[in-house]
Amino acid sequence: MNTILTKSIHKLLRHSPLTHGEFAVLLKNNSEKLRKVLAAAADETRRKYFGNRIFIRGLIEFTNYCHNNCFYCGIRCDNKNIKRYRLTHEDILSCCHQGYLSGFRTFVLQGGEDTFFTDEKMIDLVTDIRNRFPDCAITLSLGERSRNSYRKLFNAGADRYLLRHETADESHYGMLHPDSMSYKNRMNCLKELKAIGYQTGCGFMVGSPFQTTEMLAADLCFIQDFRPHMVGIGPFISHQNTPFSDRKNGTLEDTLLLISILRLMQPALLLPSTTALGTIAENGRELGILAGANVIMPNLSPASARKQYSLYDNKPCTGEETLQGLQSLDEHMKNIGFQITVDRGDFPEFT
Ligand code: SAM
Repeated sequence: MNTILTKSIHKLLRHSPLTHGEFAVLLKNNSEKLRKVLAAAADETRRKYFGNRIFIRGLIEFTNYCHNNCFYCGIRCDNKNIKRYRLTHEDILSCCHQGYLSGFRTFVLQGGEDTFFTDEKMIDLVTDIRNRFPDCAITLSLGERSRNSYRKLFNAGADRYLLRHETADESHYGMLHPDSMSYKNRMNCLKELKAIGYQTGCGFMVGSPFQTTEMLAADLCFIQDFRPHMVGIGPFISHQNTPFSDRKNGTLEDTLLLISILRLMQPALLLPSTTALGTIAENGRELGILAGANVIMPNLSPASARKQYSLYDNKPCTGEETLQGLQSLDEHMKNIGFQITVDRGDFPEFT
């Protein structure tokens, strides 16, 4: 093993900060042996903070209308081949209710950037969920909004916000998004969210078009400095009705290595094993957990909505990622030594 690789591994195992070059060396040397070493250390680290507990979040994909036109995303506004839908206020509360009965104590409201959901409507919704489910955490993932909007939603009772930065390289951001979208604004939104007091999540797709190892290393440097409470990563998966329809998907191996690195960089991180990971490999979600993830986000949306919220091709919408599949998910987690827990699952500083 070359010395810089050995040094980088040792620093990571001690949870010490790495340089851009050291992250890049780890990523360039992705091998089964390296993944095994880092996954074993990530597992031990996670157990120190969380034992064998896996947190579940009930995902409610409440609108697939989006005014953005991200080149990778199946719900981009230029895709005229999907049926658009919005769940009503009552539909969303009913999803929460079903989820609550099954043991969910976090609801994640995610959607395209849909101007129909004004601050007023979202505040009403968050207020109602907060009042009806006082022991639950409310996570929002609504994309870019103003500081004022984020503040009002926080005051209404939202606890967490997920906004993937998508890439920490500005020129790469420009290759994934139209000119109407701005890297600086996205990064600024993340800073605002954290300053307001949200448990804040950033993240990126693994293997997105034009991504290089240097760019991934920049993502890790950004996360190291920003210190988010959650990080969502999953492989890029092409969608037939996007400009990236013929691009290669991200790989299982790269995603698993990155999960282990993230766990070791920030031991208390809330780190989901994503649906996208479960899409590219049959047991992808279990492998994500074994690599160091500690969150799974089953889908509480109605079946028709799940099908239409098609960010990428072959997104599963009838199996273990649904509320109906919870029992089988629970068994699969037990089989690999983990326990799904009925708990808000806050970032340790927030409990
Ligand atoms: N509109 C919100 C936002 O912009 O954060 C939330 C919804 S957005 C569809 C959620 C995430 O899906 C994005 O941040 C992106 O990383 C991921 N995503 C979109 N298209 C994808 C694809 N083709 N493959 C994998 N992930 C994708």
